[in-house]
Amino acid sequence: MAKIWYDKDVDLKLIKSKKVAVLGYGSQGHAQAQNLRQSGVKVVVSELPGTDNYKKAVKDGFKPMPAAKAAEWANVIQILLPDEIQAKVYEKDVAPNLTPGKALLFSHGFNIRFKLIKPPKGVDVILIAPKAPGHTVRRLFADGKGVPMLLAVEQNASKKAWELGLSYAKAVGGTRAGVIRTTFTEETETDLFGEQAVLCGGLCALIQAGFETLIKAGYQPEAAYFECCHEIKLITDMINEGGLAWMRYSISDTAEYGDYTRGQKVVGKSSRDAMQKILKDIQSGAFAKEWVAEARSGKKKFLKMRKAEANSRIEKVGANLRKMMSWLKDAKK
Ligand code: NDP
Ligand code: MG
Repeated sequence: MAKIWYDKDVDLKLIKSKKVAVLGYGSQGHAQAQNLRQSGVKVVVSELPGTDNYKKAVKDGFKPMPAAKAAEWANVIQILLPDEIQAKVYEKDVAPNLTPGKALLFSHGFNIRFKLIKPPKGVDVILIAPKAPGHTVRRLFADGKGVPMLLAVEQNASKKAWELGLSYAKAVGGTRAGVIRTTFTEETETDLFGEQAVLCGGLCALIQAGFETLIKAGYQPEAAYFECCHEIKLITDMINEGGLAWMRYSISDTAEYGDYTRGQKVVGKSSRDAMQKILKDIQSGAFAKEWVAEARSGKKKFLKMRKAEANSRIEKVGANLRKMMSWLKDAKK
């Protein structure tokens, strides 16, 4: 079992002796900036004037400043901008202000792992990756709890980068749940693989394929939606709470027998081969190259796919059925 760092192992003093700039007030930015401030850390935020998140930062009591100014003022710079635009903002606004002795932080290793950002030798480069969406990072912290985080050091110029990372993690709530050591390479590659093969890509394709198979066979779309999409949450909640065995304990023996004997047919050799190929494309940098090129050329293909998927049949059926479920409407508010 990997070593885990908790609150009692870590001192807040180090991060409190610093000035922290959080660039980007989105999902992670709004959470980390508010948690830092609540822990008594000196923090400024940067956002683009006129955007909704700029207004949110003002409403939350910050005075957002341009990224260059924030980077100049701070000695710890946490980059929480969208991954595909980090390199641009880094070149223009951060690099000119990244004097020796400062620390550069990330919550995802993408830009360092694929060398889109190449920090100078004299600075610390640290990854602090919360294993939850930003809104959970904030909500749990405000409740006195925290989410687990991964911590990695790529450059240790100050010889105190690990301690600084832990101190930062404590200030945003990570050591309340536990912090585990990783590397930029491991975090980036496993994160990309997870979202592509399992959590997002794999799961959405599985839902779609199951839904379409039932419809093609003549069943009602509503029945197909309930069985292949809606109930996923009930199953994954159980897996999340107690692993696969707990879910299997809870379902019927009929369902469990079907699971053991049929699951491997759906995710068989060809799917496992595809997973190998997906992982290779991540490790070689081929995926990163493709995505950065797409982002730099205006995301045309990406936006077209987003539109097509949003208009697919399962989304229309689902939107109507969700109207029946009053509790979901409440959650959206
Ligand atoms: P978001 O897209 O939610 O937020 C980024 C924010 O930065 C947006 O508000 C964006 O404004 C703003 N922004 C864009 N350009 C600039 C600029 N030049 N100056 C100042 N602000 C700017 O990003 P996330 O929080 O999702 O992701 C941030 C980092 O955290 C990424 O590295 C991501 O991989 C990582 N991460 C995210 C998780 C999550 O829960 N979402 C989980 C773990 C890690 P606008 O919206 O107007 O473009
Ligand atoms: Mg992830």
